[in-house]
Amino acid sequence: MIPYGRQHISQQDIDAVIEVLQSDFLTQGPAVPAFEQRLCELTTAAQAVAVNSATSALHIACLALGVGPGSRVWTSPISFVASANCARYCGATVDFVDVEPDTGNMAIDKLRQKLEQARSSDTLPQVVIPVHLAGASCDMQQIHYLANEFDFKIIEDASHAVGASYQDEPVGCCRYSDITVFSFHPVKIITTAEGGAALTNSAELAEKMRLLRSHGISRDESLMSEPSHGAWYYQQLLLGLNYRMTDLQAALGLSQSQRLLPIIQKRQLLAAHYQRLLTTLPVGIPEPEAFNISAWHLYIIRLHDKTKRKAVFDGLRDAGIGVNVHYIPIHTQPYYQQLGFDWGDFPVAEDFYERIISLPIFPELTGEQQQFIAEKLAELVK
Ligand SMILES: *Cc1c(COP(=O)(O)O)cnc(C)c1O
Repeated sequence: MIPYGRQHISQQDIDAVIEVLQSDFLTQGPAVPAFEQRLCELTTAAQAVAVNSATSALHIACLALGVGPGSRVWTSPISFVASANCARYCGATVDFVDVEPDTGNMAIDKLRQKLEQARSSDTLPQVVIPVHLAGASCDMQQIHYLANEFDFKIIEDASHAVGASYQDEPVGCCRYSDITVFSFHPVKIITTAEGGAALTNSAELAEKMRLLRSHGISRDESLMSEPSHGAWYYQQLLLGLNYRMTDLQAALGLSQSQRLLPIIQKRQLLAAHYQRLLTTLPVGIPEPEAFNISAWHLYIIRLHDKTKRKAVFDGLRDAGIGVNVHYIPIHTQPYYQQLGFDWGDFPVAEDFYERIISLPIFPELTGEQQQFIAEKLAELVK
């Protein structure tokens, strides 16, 4: 089976992990700060906080922004469940904003409408979490403009968009957001096996997230409520978690990050090749806006005839092509239905879901494999 995505591990990556295994620190050593420094260089963000998953990063990002019981958080229904669950961990109420039919990203006009309604009923959100589906950024300048007008904070879920850019700046620079979150799961752009990071330009938010990822414990005397008792002394300042990234993971991430540019260039070539192969088929193909350079985490096609989706999907799987669907709308999951959501709530997202298929895209996919995928797809959509 050709998978829809898979990691690329080099000998250099393997050597980097072995070096940590033979060193003094498997965790809480020098590799994590080195990886964080590298993430700052890649994105131009002032601060990076590496953690054990993007889910954890989303959780501590929400906590750092003061999300709690009584807060409202809005995200996109076309995302992995973690984009919404992070607010539920904090006891907040979740709601969704419908998406654009072509990109599956949060629709700016829908966001504005919903904000205006929420203002009149005094139910404005504290935080909005736009998701950069497939690696192409949402229109962050517009969302930032609305954030100023309606007074909410922004967390970018850029799990798909490591290495992407928006308006000629790296995604993660946080020009138009408070915090940006990356995922380093193996199917994503670069990997640490499990892992994630929160980027920000705020020293205060970074400090809070560093406390939150490690039990709320600090050895920084300037933060303590009384003078240090000695070299052993630490204080727990708030209720934190253990969301730390290990040095093994950070070393893998640091090594992987040296290849970020060629990885993105390869994904762009694969996307361009798909575009040539699929252009005459009755499917919508992804065309990122002029303000985006996508990281091409996913290659999502939209069948013109959605009644054929299951047959086309099954036919591709039967041919050994590991297609997938990104995503089942979050609000239709039983857990969210129990909270009061239902089919019909976000019709554009639901229509998008019913016609999409993610074709394989990863650095080692070959042109011949793409040709084979396109031929099978052509037979099946006829
Ligand atoms: C993968 C993913 C996550 C969660 O990432 P983990 O690192 O596996 O926790 C969150 N949001 C989106 C959009 C994702 O694709």
